[in-house]
Amino acid sequence: MLALKNIKKSYTTGSFTQVALNGINLNFRENEFVAILGPSGSGKTTCLNVIGGLDRYDSGDLVINGKSTKSFKDVDWDAYRNNSIGFIFQSYNLITHLNIIDNVEMGMTLSGVSAGAKRKKAMEVLERVGLKEHMHKKPNQLSGGQMQRVAIARALANDPDIILADEPTGALDSTTSKQIMDLIKEIAKDKLVIMVTHNPEIARTYADRIIEFKDGEVVSDSRPLPDVEISPNYKLKKTKMSFFTALKLSANNIRTKKGRTFLTAFASSIGIIGIALILSLSNGFDKKIAEYESETLSNFPIMISQSAAEIDADMLKERQSAMMGATDEDAYPDEKVVYPTEPIIEKITHTNILTDEYMEHIENIDPELVSGISYTRMLKINLLKKQDDKATIINADSMSFTSYPKSLGGDNTRYLELNYDVLAGSYPKGMNDVVLIVDNKNQIDKTILQNFGLEYESDSIPFEDIIGYEFRAILNNDFYKANDSFFMINGDPTNLIDLYNNENAIPLKVVGILRPKEHIKIPLLPEGFAYSDELAEFIIKDAANSEIVLKQKDSEFNVLTGAPFDESDLDFNGVSSKEAVLSVLGANDTPYMISIYPASFSAKDDILTYLDKYNEGKSETDKVVYTDLAGKVTELSGGIMDAITIVLIAFSSISLVVSLIMVGIITYISVLERTREIGVLRSLGARKKDITRVFNAETFIIGLCSGVMGIVIARLLIFPINSIIKRMTTLPNVAQLNPVHAAALVLLSLALTVLGGTIPAKIAARKDPVEALRAE
Ligand code: ADP
Ligand code: MG
Repeated sequence: MLALKNIKKSYTTGSFTQVALNGINLNFRENEFVAILGPSGSGKTTCLNVIGGLDRYDSGDLVINGKSTKSFKDVDWDAYRNNSIGFIFQSYNLITHLNIIDNVEMGMTLSGVSAGAKRKKAMEVLERVGLKEHMHKKPNQLSGGQMQRVAIARALANDPDIILADEPTGALDSTTSKQIMDLIKEIAKDKLVIMVTHNPEIARTYADRIIEFKDGEVVSDSRPLPDVEISPNYKLKKTKMSFFTALKLSANNIRTKKGRTFLTAFASSIGIIGIALILSLSNGFDKKIAEYESETLSNFPIMISQSAAEIDADMLKERQSAMMGATDEDAYPDEKVVYPTEPIIEKITHTNILTDEYMEHIENIDPELVSGISYTRMLKINLLKKQDDKATIINADSMSFTSYPKSLGGDNTRYLELNYDVLAGSYPKGMNDVVLIVDNKNQIDKTILQNFGLEYESDSIPFEDIIGYEFRAILNNDFYKANDSFFMINGDPTNLIDLYNNENAIPLKVVGILRPKEHIKIPLLPEGFAYSDELAEFIIKDAANSEIVLKQKDSEFNVLTGAPFDESDLDFNGVSSKEAVLSVLGANDTPYMISIYPASFSAKDDILTYLDKYNEGKSETDKVVYTDLAGKVTELSGGIMDAITIVLIAFSSISLVVSLIMVGIITYISVLERTREIGVLRSLGARKKDITRVFNAETFIIGLCSGVMGIVIARLLIFPINSIIKRMTTLPNVAQLNPVHAAALVLLSLALTVLGGTIPAKIAARKDPVEALRAE
């Protein structure tokens, strides 16, 4: 069944070539106990290794069951070793970190025998060698004889046809030797056993056939077998180690060196900890900023102004980077020239034409999205106050007398209710209601009070003195009277009591005192009196047909002064243009500026989308651009955060590279330590791939440990970090580890450590099994 045909094998070390086998011709019977005798160095072990497929012959042929092995590939040899051969070594070669039963099962594990069948068979062979009760012990808890019995059990477990034993009793005392030899003799009853020994007595006592070796040649054979033709009858089951087996094997191995594994995993986890902390901090700060922004910036309006100075995005970016110390490439040129450019204003100005269509578009915004819309107009309402039976003009500017934002869809004071507390009285209800707005210290500019005729004596005024206070708005036709070419006030400016009392006068009553709510960091209505947009609309409607407006429309001079307009003399209030005078008089129902207050920070995006919809398909001049101040602020803060995060992660990544190298070294050391195990596994039929798998499994475990450890440590560190941040900034729970980031980092750690172990694992796989077995 087994034939060696002119087998030659030599080893070359340096320039010296040692012939180990010099043309061996041997035929073996299917069932015999063969002893190979010979002096040390005569080639016995080499011959056994060649027969077992552990070593390759240089020339000749090894014929198994009539099949030549000349064309065998690695996998064929692996399968052959696993299926047909059982090795017994002088030094037992048990895997020390596996218990007895696992050692015995290893060969079957490699050939994919099911767990149940494996256990049954292992128990059976252990019983046969008399070690059943020791099956859960580790090899180092057994005596030499017992260890050799385990090795025999392992060799028998896969039911091989051939048992190869290399000086199996070489390390044992004579009594134990006898027991082992009896056992082998017993096995030889139905197998081919080839045993190497240098003890002629053992050979004579036990063997059926004695072959003597000398200098790599057969010098005698007590029972030679002539050549017999056997028809090829050969089929072998391929071996394969599952990743789970590799994991189990490595987990067992790692358990024997817990301390080192822990330290390795911990060192590797430092990079992960760093990145996890940075991510949680930036994540947390992003969240806090978003929260802060939605709190403070949500009451920032989106502004649409008739002559919108569009904030040029590129210019803004340039300013920002300049603020942060970055310089433009073409800044500070060396050329001794000056570059004329387009005027900046022209580049960034866009005139918004607020058509009726656009105004309607605004009014049709989903009422849920906005807390209020305010229209800024140049309209100057004619106001009179009454003091001691005398009425005089209130000189209110646009700051001390403004309209509060109106709400869409019925609930008219939503904006005020969301942003202002009522200190006294109530929110305004109708056109005749005005409110006094004070700052967060209940303060109000005293000149405003004086202007509006509110008298007071001490340094504070009780609420009840203000609530119910009344002044009046006078319509244009009553307020102005024509005087030749221009108009003047209808009455004696020092006492306009008749005007005050006229039937068209609109009484305005202070119904409430409002103060910004505590969470409103930046109140947007100026301190002073606020009226409803309804009042403005009413007055504008009336003004449209007032004499003074009609006259102004027809005249090319200012009807308030009688002076001609001088277009070159535009002052800041613009009142020297005809358009401006008309606006002031209320002839113009298009507001100068529209401010839209989003109901929430998130509603803002929907509003912007809605506003953008208007511009779709419009020509550049017809487009209406808006200014989203809050958006500009958000953009800036987000960008800075991202930049900082990237830089910090880059730093932490260095420690990941360090741990990559470290894991490589540790794995390499492990490969050196487990060399013998590699040899044993190979002798049991493990493929090179399986060996790679064993070490990949080891790094997999380390990577998983370090990843999980890193995340756990980072999570724990977040507690003190948060308490420090809280003490410094009063912000609670800033650092927050995103579970997705955590999972990604564990995967990263796994990937990197496995990568680090790749080269050592490949080195392990390439190890020559014979040399590996000889390793100390
Ligand atoms: P034996 O088992 O009979 O003592 P071996 O088969 O181990 O002898 O060795 C046969 C010869 O081959 C010896 O001279 C030994 O030095 C040589 N030899 C065996 N293995 C190697 C090797 N890996 N490299 C170099 N020489 C070797
Ligand atoms: Mg030897």
